[in-house]
Amino acid sequence: MPLVYIDHEKIRGKKALTIEYSGFEKGFIESILDKENINYRKEGGVIIVENVTKKQIKKILTKYGVDTKNILVSGEILNFGFLLESISFRRNIKRVCPRCGSINVRKVSFLSGWFTPLQFICEDCGYVGVAFLEVEE
Ligand SMILES: [Zn+2]
Repeated sequence: MPLVYIDHEKIRGKKALTIEYSGFEKGFIESILDKENINYRKEGGVIIVENVTKKQIKKILTKYGVDTKNILVSGEILNFGFLLESISFRRNIKRVCPRCGSINVRKVSFLSGWFTPLQFICEDCGYVGVAFLEVEE
């Protein structure tokens, strides 16, 4: 099933929306953003946009033929993300960057670990990998 997941996150202190998708042609969402003149950047497989609301993005996507039932917006549908998060982060596990030792580590992507191996990124040095040390708080 094609799926677009929209979430909002604080990335390096800035509010941003993250868009991830699966099951669509590669570059599909990016081409829509291009057509709408929306600036974005990519980090791993995640599209990051600033100064756009979740509602706006959803509206734009549906305008280009994406079915609303294939758009998951964080907080809208039973907080799907929270459900997954609560499964994988039930214990208070902190991940430690193997390169710089920072614990300022977050999941690269919501869909990471679902379709692909669970990847993490270090906010401090930018290291991306699957081999982060886990320590329990
Ligand atoms: Zn690091």
